Amino acid sequence: MRWVTVASENGPRACGLVDGEYVDVKAADPEMPATVRELLELGADWQRRAWAALARGVVRHDPANIRLLAPVPNPRKIICIGLNYRDHAAESGVPAPDEPVLFSKYPTALIGHKDQIILPRVSQEVDYEAELVVVIGRGGRHIPRERAFEHVGGYAAGHDVSARDWQLNKPGKQWMAGKTFDTFAPVGPELVTPDEVPDPHKLGIRLRLNGQTMQDSTTSQLIFGVDELIAYLSQVFTLEPGDLIFTGTPPGVGMARKPPVWLKPGDTVEVEIDHLGTLRNTVVAEAGRA
Ligand code: ZN
Repeated sequence: MRWVTVASENGPRACGLVDGEYVDVKAADPEMPATVRELLELGADWQRRAWAALARGVVRHDPANIRLLAPVPNPRKIICIGLNYRDHAAESGVPAPDEPVLFSKYPTALIGHKDQIILPRVSQEVDYEAELVVVIGRGGRHIPRERAFEHVGGYAAGHDVSARDWQLNKPGKQWMAGKTFDTFAPVGPELVTPDEVPDPHKLGIRLRLNGQTMQDSTTSQLIFGVDELIAYLSQVFTLEPGDLIFTGTPPGVGMARKPPVWLKPGDTVEVEIDHLGTLRNTVVAEAGRA
């Protein structure tokens, strides 16, 4: 199944894709929840229940005429993995890590497909990073690697927008601050359930900047795979339904180019991942930015 969150007059509403239209699941059945996170919280048979409701759908949206939020606009956690593609670690001039490198973003950074990325007043070095995003379905702590895929609720294309001057040049290296400016976490357009993704470790992943391909790799290059990440993270904290894991970016980022490439107002950035679709966002400057 494919799910989106539509910005409706009734607030964020989970809608499932049926015959090319997005069907509001709560409008179809008032006993169903209004948000994707709450759908994931229904447990193992949430998709069966959702399908039954969608079949009665009355409120349908044409994808061309709606504003999408991130598929899960209200996660409790957004966890990000740094340096998780072998070639990207090499282009960053650091050895491939022995264990996952963790940082985080806040939900205020989330935006949806076609929303605008806002270049902050206080950064002049904003970079792009195409990423596979894993959405947790069933939560858990100390999840064994061999059972980790049972905890995946879906996948989505994501963009880890990164202010390099904050991430790398501030005292102590402010990774988290550099990664979590408002609008720095585009995700979407859809959450795609695992049954529609044949192998999450064999997905082509590409980023185009104004139509030019800047990143072009595959998730087979991941150092730590989806199952390893879930096992590793759940040693530290409880994973909960709707939590997002940004799994790292392949080579080709702007800071590694000579001269470096930074996002500028008017740019269009597209992240395309096999089976997950294309996430497109335009770039604008915050008022008062030089
Ligand atoms: Zn990243």
